[in-house]
Amino acid sequence: MCSATATNAVDPKIIDLLNKDPEGLAHVSLEYFPPRTEQGVKNLHARMERMLTNTKCLYTDMTWGAGGSTAELSLELALHAQKTGHVSNLHLTCTNMEKDGDPIKGVHDALQAAFDGGIRNIVALRGDPQEGENEWTATKGGFTCALDLVKYIRKEFGDDFGVSVAGYPEGHPNRISELTEDEVKSMSESELSRCCTHDGIAYVCKDDDYKKEMDYLKEKVDAGADFIITQMFFDAEVFKIFVEDCRTWGINCPVVPGLMCINAYPGFKKMTKFCKTRVPKALEEKMDSMKDDADAIKKFGVEYGAEVCRTLLDSGVKILHFYTLNLEKVVYGITDELGITSGLTEQSNESDAKIWLLLVVPGLGQVTQLSAVLVKE
Ligand SMILES: Cc1cc2nc3c(=O)[nH]c(=O)nc-3n(C[C@H](O)[C@H](O)[C@H](O)COP(=O)(O)OP(=O)(O)OC[C@H]3O[C@@H](n4cnc5c(N)ncnc54)[C@H](O)[C@@H]3O)c2cc1C
Repeated sequence: MCSATATNAVDPKIIDLLNKDPEGLAHVSLEYFPPRTEQGVKNLHARMERMLTNTKCLYTDMTWGAGGSTAELSLELALHAQKTGHVSNLHLTCTNMEKDGDPIKGVHDALQAAFDGGIRNIVALRGDPQEGENEWTATKGGFTCALDLVKYIRKEFGDDFGVSVAGYPEGHPNRISELTEDEVKSMSESELSRCCTHDGIAYVCKDDDYKKEMDYLKEKVDAGADFIITQMFFDAEVFKIFVEDCRTWGINCPVVPGLMCINAYPGFKKMTKFCKTRVPKALEEKMDSMKDDADAIKKFGVEYGAEVCRTLLDSGVKILHFYTLNLEKVVYGITDELGITSGLTEQSNESDAKIWLLLVVPGLGQVTQLSAVLVKE
């Protein structure tokens, strides 16, 4: 495993790290979101340092708050990560980035500040609707999608940055639709592999829509994205099919699986419903059977996470990207189980954490205040 050292003035590009040792040991990368309080920031600094030392994570993602809400803090935390030995992967969205009356200036300034601070890796995203809004709308004269942002980065900054983009193995939520009873009965094999049911309602990204998603993903990569990080999934088969589909579409770059840690029952239920995530029947039944036992859920979160990761590693995946939720226990449990690390489970310390009642939606910005998963800062 390798990681940057604290002396790096300028980060390496992640794509070069990914391509360096394709046959080598498995790596992890870790994703965090900006906390809401000063104390939360201090705690996160300490946790990120511990997790870098403990996991030797290849790179570290910092999300860009939904609706641009944490822009300054995201940048600050990503720069702090860069200065303290992480290879920093800064998320950047097109939402609400207007500055001095210019819809693009906010984006440009953020990129310039990241570059000046030694960051060389950007996750180019459209972003989600601002808080309180259901539909995403572009600022007048601003970018309309992540593709615009990828093109802008390449036009203005050339190869200064490594760029990654989001991929959706089950389709983007905007293109996942509710099915009628007749549609449920006539689903294609491919639709069956990614459909889900929440509260008795079946949903799927239909084949025609999935094709549009893949065509568009290819455009993002052709415009200059170096690799793809996926939305969370709980069915390893969905990821494997998605990678095969990428290759069929001529998308030949690395596809990094985004892995959500199962930490608590209410959060899992709300998040999977909100994102219309496929939850395999066996997983659903097991979770329901343990719903009142928080410790058992965490333990199972480790077992299930490790099982998914093992399937991915067996299929040739070389890097596992964890949505940490700013927590360490379950990540350590999984990496210990996989033999990537050892003895971390016993050491993990979340006692500095303050508990917030929030719904964290990874891959959907950072925090939506719908309710209830225990998130500690
Ligand atoms: C790994 C990951 C990290 C994320 N991090 C953050 C974060 O830090 N902050 C945050 O706010 N959100 C984050 N998100 C959430 C993301 O912003 C949302 O999912 C958002 O709704 C879409 O962003 P995108 O970059 O995928 O958008 P886009 O790539 O622009 O796509 C959005 C949808 O529009 C369709 N579309 C757009 N343009 C076209 C076109 N020209 N032709 C056809 N179809 C088109 C796409 O197919 C897709 O369905 C993340 C998501 C992932 C998977």
